Amino acid sequence: MAPDARQKRRITILGSTGSIGTSTLDVVRQLGGQDRYEVLALTGNGNVDLLAAQAKDCGAKMAVTADESRYSALKEALAGSGIEAAAGRAALLEAASGAADWVMAAIVGTAGLAPTLAAARKGADIALANKECLVSAGDLFVRAVAEGGGRLIPVDSEHSAIFQALEDDQRHALERIVLTASGGPFRTWSRAQMADVTADIARAHPNWSMGLKISIGSASMFNKALEMIEAKHLFDVRPEQIEVVVHPQSIIHSMVGYVDGSVLAQLGAPDMRTAIGYALTYPERSPLNVDRLDFAKLSRLDFEAPDEERFPALRLARTALTRGGLQGAVMNAAEEVAFHAFVGGRIGFLAMADIAEAVMDRLTHLPPAASMDDVFAADEEARRVAAGLIG
Ligand code: NDP
Repeated sequence: MAPDARQKRRITILGSTGSIGTSTLDVVRQLGGQDRYEVLALTGNGNVDLLAAQAKDCGAKMAVTADESRYSALKEALAGSGIEAAAGRAALLEAASGAADWVMAAIVGTAGLAPTLAAARKGADIALANKECLVSAGDLFVRAVAEGGGRLIPVDSEHSAIFQALEDDQRHALERIVLTASGGPFRTWSRAQMADVTADIARAHPNWSMGLKISIGSASMFNKALEMIEAKHLFDVRPEQIEVVVHPQSIIHSMVGYVDGSVLAQLGAPDMRTAIGYALTYPERSPLNVDRLDFAKLSRLDFEAPDEERFPALRLARTALTRGGLQGAVMNAAEEVAFHAFVGGRIGFLAMADIAEAVMDRLTHLPPAASMDDVFAADEEARRVAAGLIG
């Protein structure tokens, strides 16, 4: 939905209290704040004090916590501000399907799927940070955005890079996409060394500052696994056209290879605000106060092949891509359950991939999704099987 240049752009931020959400508010502030943007709704979950402070700061019309039990705390924190407070899943869906022109989808995990879908069906441009939407619902999600009439603009730094490097009129000449991966904190570790790590150790990413789930996912490379499936649906490529290369400096955010051997890359400092700003002002670029690359100081960029023995998540992504159907939804749900079990100290770091693989192998019989109900049913079934394996 193209905004009228004379009007303020109406925006909603789903997951405003998280890492991507707070960066999005900073970008909105840098690009003119309330002079250019009307914030219709901000949503969060547990952190209602931050949610209320953000809503007051950006002049949001409404603040919603997904957690019903936090309603009075949110209402109290917003008292006298004139900002509407709401709570619960229904309120979240209602806020998501409001009149926004642009919606940032930055809720973590599968919890983000239904609200993002609601925003897509309403015709908003979707700035997609929540990769789980595409991993679970795949082409159904892409179709929902297209049918709603909005645009799907990737925010994940790798997919934003590919989106920027893709020449629209040369899609037929695309040969491969190359997703870069930092390798995470355990890039050089053996499996024996990884066996006993705690969540606190695993969450310490060498280059990026991010939320807990994606940080752990970077250490296990499950995040890259999700990104491989995300890439397939975003760019309509075959599984064999998706490559992963480990690039420890995280300066090249990803690349596109063409049939003539040319490779186009997008580079930048590891700061999500560049991808967020691009998603907000696409196809324009707007000035942002982020670090600039100093190539003389960088001096070198390293690359290495990913190791699918030490990081089996990558192999599981290939399996999910080859099997197709609902395997992405199954892998995503099983990994989410295993992630919570790891963070809660109930399973070890390496067991996350073992559980995801076992759940995927048990649920190969699910037929391809005909509707979103099938996706939600597969998600639920995979969670049940994963929980049973964890005990
Ligand atoms: P965070 O954990 O920092 O933030 C998650 C947000 O979701 C918070 O606003 C949180 O609310 C909200 N939330 C949590 N649970 C629920 C729920 N059940 N219902 C509704 N809202 C909920 O995550 P990130 O910002 O790191 O990541 C968000 C998404 O963006 C993920 O899908 C991630 O993979 C993706 N992404 C993130 C990147 C990054 O740099 N962080 C980079 C690329 C993609 P509260 O905090 O109030 O509890």
